[in-house]
Amino acid sequence: MRKNLIRSTKGGLILKFGFRVVTVVDGGCPGDSLHWSLGQFQEQTKLLHPCREGKKLLVLDIDYTLFDHRSTAENPLELMRPYLHEFLSAVYAEYDIIIWSATSMKWVELKMGQLGVLDNPNYKITALLDHLAMITVQSDTHRTFDCKPLGLIWAQYPEYYNSKNTIMFDDLRRNFVMNPQNGLTIRPFRKAHLNRSKDKELVRLTEYLLAIAELSDLSSLDHSRWEAFSEDNVKRPRHR
Ligand SMILES: [Mg+2]
Repeated sequence: MRKNLIRSTKGGLILKFGFRVVTVVDGGCPGDSLHWSLGQFQEQTKLLHPCREGKKLLVLDIDYTLFDHRSTAENPLELMRPYLHEFLSAVYAEYDIIIWSATSMKWVELKMGQLGVLDNPNYKITALLDHLAMITVQSDTHRTFDCKPLGLIWAQYPEYYNSKNTIMFDDLRRNFVMNPQNGLTIRPFRKAHLNRSKDKELVRLTEYLLAIAELSDLSSLDHSRWEAFSEDNVKRPRHR
């Protein structure tokens, strides 16, 4: 199936979904311009639990972000990124959680089910998204690639989520191309058997997410400097 196609032009981006084409003006908000494909997007969204009033949104990739899909093990739990359940339990207090993978929904449900993410008593996953909700981007300077446009989530749930209260973790920066201010590039979790005992990325990211949760606009942050932000917060605690 041919997915959505974006062509970069002088005047902005031309988005194509099936036979429909729309132009997104440079500097414009993708969320404003993508309503045309909401119907198709909603069909690709597997809503598991209702959105919660007053919560921010965390969108998570799976492969190399939560799971080492390239290593082999008898039990998939051996390939799970360390502290995954502790991380999700802690951030659930402040964030709704959506899992968005570039694979198929069948694989997403299977993998998340095997890891115990879908029935954990300490947190709930709001929704699952797969590759069918992604958009293919083609520009003059980049080759063709798929990305995850958060604008489609914002347009689908405008009363809950927007560009100011959403953050997305992915090991591939290109997935943020339509929402660079909302993306945090996580270190990939590879070679699980070697790195399982020392990977603390999710512990440190828990601190970051909880530290920024009280801010009214997450998009004003530079998420590439998340480690420095966490260190500053530890050095200068707000509640003395
Ligand atoms: Mg990945």
